[in-house]
Amino acid sequence: MPHENYSEIRDSVRKLCSGFAGEYWRNLDERKAYPTDFVSTLCDAGFLSVTIPQEYGGSGLPLSAACAVLEEIQRSGCNAGACHAQMYTMGTLLKHGSEQQKKKYLPSIASGELRLQAFAVTEPNSGTDTTRITTFAKRDGDDYVVNGQKVWISRSEHSDLMVLLVRTTPRDKCTKPSDGMSVLLVDLRDAVNNGLTIKPIKTMLNHATTELFFDNLRVPAENIIGEEGRGFKYILDGMNAERILIAAECIGDAKFFIDKSSAYATDRKVFGRPIGQNQGVQFPIARNYAQMRAAEALVKEAAEKFDSMEPCGTEANMCKLLASEASWAAADTCIQTHGGYGFAVEYDIERKFRETRLYQVAPISTNLILAYIGTQELGMPKSY
Ligand SMILES: Cc1cc2nc3c(=O)[nH]c(=O)nc-3n(C[C@H](O)[C@H](O)[C@H](O)COP(=O)(O)OP(=O)(O)OC[C@H]3O[C@@H](n4cnc5c(N)ncnc54)[C@H](O)[C@@H]3O)c2cc1C
Repeated sequence: MPHENYSEIRDSVRKLCSGFAGEYWRNLDERKAYPTDFVSTLCDAGFLSVTIPQEYGGSGLPLSAACAVLEEIQRSGCNAGACHAQMYTMGTLLKHGSEQQKKKYLPSIASGELRLQAFAVTEPNSGTDTTRITTFAKRDGDDYVVNGQKVWISRSEHSDLMVLLVRTTPRDKCTKPSDGMSVLLVDLRDAVNNGLTIKPIKTMLNHATTELFFDNLRVPAENIIGEEGRGFKYILDGMNAERILIAAECIGDAKFFIDKSSAYATDRKVFGRPIGQNQGVQFPIARNYAQMRAAEALVKEAAEKFDSMEPCGTEANMCKLLASEASWAAADTCIQTHGGYGFAVEYDIERKFRETRLYQVAPISTNLILAYIGTQELGMPKSY
C-alpha cells in the first residue's frame, strides 16, 4: 500500500500556522509565556485529536496523520512542544483506560474542552532509570494518596489532566524492578494547591516545564488506568508513539532550517556572487538534506509499522535518533550559513536552534537509544 502523505492535512496545518508567524513566537519566547492562542486554534481545528477514534469525537486517523500535523507545525517555524503530549498521552488512556474513563474524558479532549497535555514520569533521583521512581501512591479507601516529587514535567500549568506514573509497590518488594508501578489520571484542576504544588523551571527554551511536589494528594481510585502494578508496561507502550511523533517534529525542524539555509545562500551575495555558489556553503546544506531524507524514510517506516500494529521499538528509537541528529545538524549549518544574522533574534533561527537541541536529550537521550539498539536489536550485553 503506498504511503499516505496526508497532503490536505499538511496544507491546512500550514495555513493555520501562517497566522502564527515568527513575531508571535519571539514575543512569547521573550516573556517565557505559553502559546495559548496557538494551542486553542489547533484544538478548535481538530488537529490535536486526529488520532482519537470517531466514536469519541476525534478523526480516527492513524499515527502517520499525527506525524504530518506535527511535522508541518515545526516546518512552519511554530513549536508543537506546547501541545504534542496530547497525541501520545491520549494513547495510554485509549489503549488501557476503561470504557467509562474513555467516555468520560475523550469526547471533551477531542472538542478541546479538556487538555491532556501533561505526562509525569521523570524524577530527580531516577533520571532515565524509570524503575527507580519513588513517588508513591498508597491506597486509602476510595482514594490513592500520593507523595513524592517529579521533575521536568512540561505543560502541567496549562493542562487539565495529567498522566502520572507512580509506585504502588516498593521496588524491593517486587519480583521484577519494572513491576509495582501504576498509572493514575490526575485532574489538575482539583489537585493544584490540594496536595500538588507546581514550580516552573527556567530553561534555555520556552517549554513551560515544571517540578511537581506531591504532599498527600488524594486521587480517586477510579482514576487508575488499567491494572495496578502494570503501569510501566502501559507507559512503554506509549513511548514508541512518542518517539515517532518527536522524530516527525525533528523532520519538520530540519526542513525549516534547510529551507532557510538554501534560500539565504541563494540570495546573499558576498564577493560578488551568491554565497551558496561556494561549495563550502552549498555542500553542508545538501548533506543536511540527504540526512533529513534518510531519517524521514525511517520515520515513515516506523509510523507505518506502528499503525499496522507490528513491533516497532527498534524503528521508533532509530528514527528518533536519526531525525534529532538531522535537525541539529541542519540547525548548525543554518547558523553558519547566515553568518552573524543567524544570531539575530528576528531571524527565528537561534530560537529554533535552541528548541531543536532538546530532542537529543528528551524524551529519551541519544545514549539510551544506542543502548536499546545495541542490546535489543544486536544482542550485545547491557551496560545497566
Ligand atoms: C525541557 C524538558 C522537558 C521535559 N519534559 C518532560 C515531561 O513532560 N515529562 C517527563 O516525564 N520528563 C520530561 N523531561 C525529562 C527527560 O525525559 C529527561 O531529561 C531525559 O529522559 C533524560 O533524563 P535525565 O535528565 O534524568 O538524565 P540522566 O538519566 O541523568 O542522564 C544524563 C546523561 O547520562 C547519560 N546516561 C545515563 N545512563 C547511561 C548509560 N547507562 N549509558 C550511557 N549513557 C547514560 C544520558 O544519556 C544523559 O546524556 C523533560 C526534559 C526537558 C529538558
